[in-house]
Amino acid sequence: MSYNIAVDGPAGAGKSTIARAVAKRLGIIYVDTGAMYRAIGLHILRQGIDPGDERAVIAGCDNAVITLKYEDGAQVVCLNGENVNACIRTEEVGKVTSQVSALPAVRSRIIALQKELAAREDCIMDGRDIGTCVLPDADVKIYLTASSAVRARRRCDELAARGQTCDLARIQADMEERDYRDMHREANPLRQAEDAVLVDSSDMTPDQVIDRILELCGRQEG
Ligand code: C5P
Repeated sequence: MSYNIAVDGPAGAGKSTIARAVAKRLGIIYVDTGAMYRAIGLHILRQGIDPGDERAVIAGCDNAVITLKYEDGAQVVCLNGENVNACIRTEEVGKVTSQVSALPAVRSRIIALQKELAAREDCIMDGRDIGTCVLPDADVKIYLTASSAVRARRRCDELAARGQTCDLARIQADMEERDYRDMHREANPLRQAEDAVLVDSSDMTPDQVIDRILELCGRQEG
């Protein structure tokens, strides 16, 4: 049986930074499920399909093959064989992704891949529905959140570090809109699993959050 940690929470809560660090400390892999949905979002965007047109989106996904591989421990997401890691981190892709990932037909394909991977590998997986749906029997479940003002500031800093310009108020409004959609969709909405531990990182440093999670995993060091 593989060892699985599920981390869910809204956009910009720090899930990927924290999960990547915990994976390293525990010597397990980090699975960024948002990247898988983002690859689908990118595919739809590239084809010029209206993300609100359900039929067109589903048809447009027919020729999308999403695969994951690991290079030096880092996840590489491929869309039809192309490494798209560098193309999926924009706010535009995030927005389209939140629209298309609401469709059950899109989710079921991606979830099957995630379950398969978690059954095979010890991993920490982050997303929106990991503890509630993808890995209901995960060994540890965390719901990581922070206030929307803090999350927007962090996302802005992240984008700025990548050389992308950003408007804080706009980022916060887009983030709130995306969270609302993720929390209110019918298919696997974002919510805290009953047996997940809530961690609010608003006033915590990344190291404090990492230590808290390692503590929940019952070990301080990997
Ligand atoms: O986490 P990230 O911001 O990369 O996720 C992008 C979008 O992908 C989310 O806003 C959400 O709509 C979707 N997503 C999802 N289920 C997951 C992970 C991400 O629906 N497990």
